[in-house]
Amino acid sequence: MAIRPIRLFGDPVLSTPAEPVQDFDRSLRKLVKDLTETLRDVGGAGLAAPQIGVGLRVFGYNVNGQRGYLVNPSLSFPDSEEQDGEEGCLSLPGIYFDVTRRQNTVARGFTDRGDPVQLVGAAVMARCIQHETDHLDGILFIDRMDDETRKAAMRAIRQAPWSGLGPGGPPDSGPSGSPGSGTRRPAFRISPHPLLGQAR
Ligand SMILES: [Zn+2]
Repeated sequence: MAIRPIRLFGDPVLSTPAEPVQDFDRSLRKLVKDLTETLRDVGGAGLAAPQIGVGLRVFGYNVNGQRGYLVNPSLSFPDSEEQDGEEGCLSLPGIYFDVTRRQNTVARGFTDRGDPVQLVGAAVMARCIQHETDHLDGILFIDRMDDETRKAAMRAIRQAPWSGLGPGGPPDSGPSGSPGSGTRRPAFRISPHPLLGQAR
């Protein structure tokens, strides 16, 4: 098992659709372990394989004590109910904005041994499942925002110390002591459930 560094917004792996898992072998089981271990370490609600630099369709989740993972998930929606709420992403630390999602989801996928499993989610779990499945399609939550919210989010990203786009320059040349400068995982440990936006 290993804690893997989280890829940040701007990394091409985050905008590239991931490939379906073909081989349910030892390397997949290692990926699942790394993913779930890294998720536990950073204290997030969900983490998709591309976020640790692996372009395969696998994500892990940890929502209200319910934790697990899905390989090759496919999503369906049992109804048309929606939810509005704040969302965050481990690849965009500190960025929390409203995203409209479906209230209920059914995700069908596989274990790391290739056995079929189903994950039924409502509310926060449904939000997590949609967010993580989007990652596997190269879609980020900012892509799901309405135009106005997305503009505000992009402004916040440009000012974020990790983005390298603001006045502080690239993360490693930012002023020492400023939050997040010089580290790949700023502020995660005080954010037990980034999807919930509790860290603000
Ligand atoms: Zn995310």
